Amino acid sequence: LKIAESDISFKRKPVIIIVVGMAGSGKTTFLHRLVCHTLSSNIRGYVLNLDPAVTTLPFGANIDIRDTVRYKEVMKEYNLGPNGGILTSLNLFATKFDEVISVIERRADQLDYVLVDTPGQIEIFTWSASGAIITEAFASTFPTVIAYVVDTPRSANPVTFMSNMLYACSILYKTRLPLVLVFNKVDVAKHEFALEWMEDFEAFQAAIETDSSYTSTLTRSLSLVLDEFYKNLKSVGVSAVSGTGMEAFFSAIEASAEEYMENY
Ligand code: GDP
Ligand code: MG
Repeated sequence: LKIAESDISFKRKPVIIIVVGMAGSGKTTFLHRLVCHTLSSNIRGYVLNLDPAVTTLPFGANIDIRDTVRYKEVMKEYNLGPNGGILTSLNLFATKFDEVISVIERRADQLDYVLVDTPGQIEIFTWSASGAIITEAFASTFPTVIAYVVDTPRSANPVTFMSNMLYACSILYKTRLPLVLVFNKVDVAKHEFALEWMEDFEAFQAAIETDSSYTSTLTRSLSLVLDEFYKNLKSVGVSAVSGTGMEAFFSAIEASAEEYMENY
């Protein structure tokens, strides 16, 4: 019996980790920390930078969008501002993404994880056609997981927390990929408050009602939606600066990759 090559082409490894999050949440710093962790623990990682506008990267990227598209020149050529320049650069890169997939496929046996950094402004990746094309190209070839980085100290306000979680929820809904919430910067503020709010609907309700400027019926409905959302994800507390939480992060990624293999 001859098995068609396409039937066995889906690989168990590497696991693709797409790092997204609000500007300044610490994606690039977190990726640097992940790279350091893989190097010191014999995990075989491969790094992909999709941010065309970053000036200096703290880590060495195996594949770098900046080697293919020059963001400043794209801005000039198409007469664009910074965001348009980044978006157009990503679009140009997405047209060649099959080549990136081939490169990773050729190395698949030697890799455990592919770590993907995305542009600073979250919506450039999560709400663009090219972001969807890139995500889809990964997810149809390898187990793919979204790591949603949260700026923990900035999310201590319940309203900010809720809008950040609603954004994460929209990404889960849009990509339908396993999502890991990465509470970053726990060296500055611990993420226990977030865990409490996620586990205990009443506790979150009480926190948000201290701010009387928000209509309680709407926030109540929204937090019910979020309660459902939390059931579908894993969360970890990390510090990209101090390095806490790396083992917990990789365990959550492994569990998410299993989930991917069962559902996709
Ligand atoms: P990005 O826009 O999401 O890629 O964010 P960056 O990685 O550029 O980080 C934004 C800022 O947050 C920088 O000033 C980082 O030094 C800082 N930062 C990132 N991670 C941490 C962390 O774990 N702890 C602290 N204290 N600062 C962090
Ligand atoms: Mg960055």
